[in-house]
Amino acid sequence: MNIKILRGRILSFKTEPQGIDDKDSYLYIEDGAIAIEGEKIVALGSFNKVRSKYKQYKLIDHRPHLLMAGFIDPHIHYVQTQVVASYAPNLLKWLYNYTFVEEQKFINFTHAEQIAAKFFTELINNGTTTACTFCSVHPHSVEAFFKESEKHNMAMIGGKVLMNRNCPDKLRDNPQLSYDESKRLIKKWHNRGRQKYAITPRFAITSTPEQLEAAGALLAENPDCYLQTHLSENKDEIALTKQLYPVHKDYLSIYEFYGLLGEKSLFAHSIHLSESEKDLMAQSNSVAISCPTSNLFLGSGLFNMQQMKKAGIRIGVATDIGGGTSYSMLQTMGDFYKVQQMNNYHLNPLSSFYMMTLGNALILSMEEEIGTLEVGSYADIIVLNSRATSAMELRAKTINNLSEELFLLQTLGDDRSIVQTYIAGKAAKYADKS
Ligand SMILES: [Zn+2]
Repeated sequence: MNIKILRGRILSFKTEPQGIDDKDSYLYIEDGAIAIEGEKIVALGSFNKVRSKYKQYKLIDHRPHLLMAGFIDPHIHYVQTQVVASYAPNLLKWLYNYTFVEEQKFINFTHAEQIAAKFFTELINNGTTTACTFCSVHPHSVEAFFKESEKHNMAMIGGKVLMNRNCPDKLRDNPQLSYDESKRLIKKWHNRGRQKYAITPRFAITSTPEQLEAAGALLAENPDCYLQTHLSENKDEIALTKQLYPVHKDYLSIYEFYGLLGEKSLFAHSIHLSESEKDLMAQSNSVAISCPTSNLFLGSGLFNMQQMKKAGIRIGVATDIGGGTSYSMLQTMGDFYKVQQMNNYHLNPLSSFYMMTLGNALILSMEEEIGTLEVGSYADIIVLNSRATSAMELRAKTINNLSEELFLLQTLGDDRSIVQTYIAGKAAKYADKS
């Protein structure tokens, strides 16, 4: 038996915090430990208790840092790593002037392989251990993505973009081809190791009705797969969508008509929804994914978390690289907090850290495997340093409790706060020196 014990301060969520004083929603142990055997967590508790279970173990002492489940990013585009920070007045101009130009480069498999490798390095450096990812329209971009993911033994979700209109010729497939290619990729990659497949129509603007029908057929034939797309991000986008699909009542009804709603359906942005769209989203158990750095960067709008929760909608928070501006889920939650402030809602830091871990695991239906430090989960673990920069160190001197520390991390923290990232029990950010 080969046991590895990580020692440090432990934080793991049990349920959604109901307020800043909700101590029942999480487990916190000042001198705690996690025992890992192979890929999984086999014990969790105080250091003395965990240590006493084993005669032999390898100890990695991370004190005084915080040990948490790895962050989960439920909406990101790996093919847009070189689009980040592109100057554009709005979504559609950004898409046509930069993103569609960049994604054409993925016709080259070597380019796809090189970018996939760099993308995974960024995720690991930022403490993201699972992500739900758009690839490009080219099937080999999916191959490059999953090949790299498999190499790291990460729980990753990805899929080939389906699009056959309103984009450059080189990025166009057609309904039959997109169906055939997706079907082949699902067969090869879905549930292979820790990989999962997401059927990925980019959005209604770039798909004809026939292609959305093909996406619906794929989902009906593979109900265990995810469906990821974009919804209601920008007002010009909504107007153009209505022109292209005039018979439908609203944007979400289009996706409903083609059978794309459900508990594994992830709708990025979902900012400007009508009341009936909110009802439909809640009834279908679909998920709205907010991407705050992207929405601020492109001036798309302010996602109203309180209203969406009141409507009974499941919510996730994501980076949306390359419309988003940071790979860091800490930075992302820092901006999500500010967006909610603009809506006069004051998101507490316990809820933020819940959302980045167990919350995002729940919206992906993966809470049995990831998102907590519970025994039986994969040992996808991050080590957080609240004093990673001189400014953080100075501020940390006046901090009195866990909530204040978490709030500091989400406000000033980034990849520099990630001391180590363990993927399925293996140190991935820096080589394991001990
Ligand atoms: Zn996106």
